[in-house]
Amino acid sequence: MSVVPPGGTVGILGGGQLGRMLAMAAARLGLKCAIYAPEPDAPAFQVCDSHVVAPYGDHDALVRFARGVDVVTYEFENVPGDAATVLSGLKSVRPSPVALSVIQDRFQEKSFARERGIVTTPFALIDSDASLQAALKSVGTPSVLKTARLGYDGKGQKIVRADQQLAAAWNELRRVPCILEGFVDFTRELSVVAARGQDGQVACFDLVENRHENHILRTTLAPAKAPQRVKAEAAKIATQLLGAFDYVGVMAVEMFETKDGRLLVNEIAPRVHNSGHWTIDGCAVSQFEQHVRAVAGWPLGDPSRHSDAVMTNLLGPEANAWREYASGTSTAVHLYGKGEARPGRKMGHVTRLFPLGLRPDA
Ligand code: AMP
Repeated sequence: MSVVPPGGTVGILGGGQLGRMLAMAAARLGLKCAIYAPEPDAPAFQVCDSHVVAPYGDHDALVRFARGVDVVTYEFENVPGDAATVLSGLKSVRPSPVALSVIQDRFQEKSFARERGIVTTPFALIDSDASLQAALKSVGTPSVLKTARLGYDGKGQKIVRADQQLAAAWNELRRVPCILEGFVDFTRELSVVAARGQDGQVACFDLVENRHENHILRTTLAPAKAPQRVKAEAAKIATQLLGAFDYVGVMAVEMFETKDGRLLVNEIAPRVHNSGHWTIDGCAVSQFEQHVRAVAGWPLGDPSRHSDAVMTNLLGPEANAWREYASGTSTAVHLYGKGEARPGRKMGHVTRLFPLGLRPDA
């Protein structure tokens, strides 16, 4: 165990809204944050103690950054593996670069889960003409072709409706390594945000339901209305994954619920997650504080919810209506301090709170 006490510094790779909310949670615990990001106007810079602007491949800048912090973490999964490795030679990096590298690759991620008996969407690797043919045999169509790396919010994905479309779809994705996933006719998308401390203690926030529009999360309903059996199963999956990775920090597990009530793991995020934003206002200890506690070697906080919540992302110009949201009852407004409100850009979110058990069906 290595503990960062109040007054210490947490280093965060990545300066988006997740880094910003991590830094704000750290400040509440008397910890400082140093942020490393390539963009000179990263939103997290506005709320941290110090920052470095440099590309992730800048070895000297990484070393300088590491010297000024007590522990390193990250707020997005596409941190180049080399950066995590350089840093881990100098300071503790949590969660570990090993977990990061497995989760960065959809094929490795799903294989890791499958090898541990966790049910995922059906999948196969495509990295050659031969494996493309094999994937057609094992997964077939309709299906979704996804780049193995660097995809987010539906980017790097193609729906393949018929076998003869697959080769063209792979060409469109420039024949980079991909996975072909069976198209799941799910009833809804659910996720669990959970944390594991340095002592192996696990804390799961409530199972939530997520609604997407144009592949971007629009709304999270907390808690998901689901039988206890489904909630327990989701928490079991998250707990199993955290243990298998010997993970320290917050992880989100996104799942599809099928018509017959089964849960299929779609994606793992090795970080705080948009579907956990409601915890800032719905729980005594948010996902952000929980992550900081875990990486700083503190005891985890109680993840239980004191209110039901509906979290809605404010995308692009929607954030211009901040005045209206700010006057809503039981509504918490979060704005990320970003400049340009490009369409689809996550500019902020609002969380409406309800007494326990009284969340309306949105
Ligand atoms: P992902 O980037 O894997 O989280 O996928 C983005 C979104 O695409 C998901 O939230 C789903 O709405 C949809 N999607 C992804 N994979 C599948 C699948 N195998 N079957 C059906 N829909 C999918």
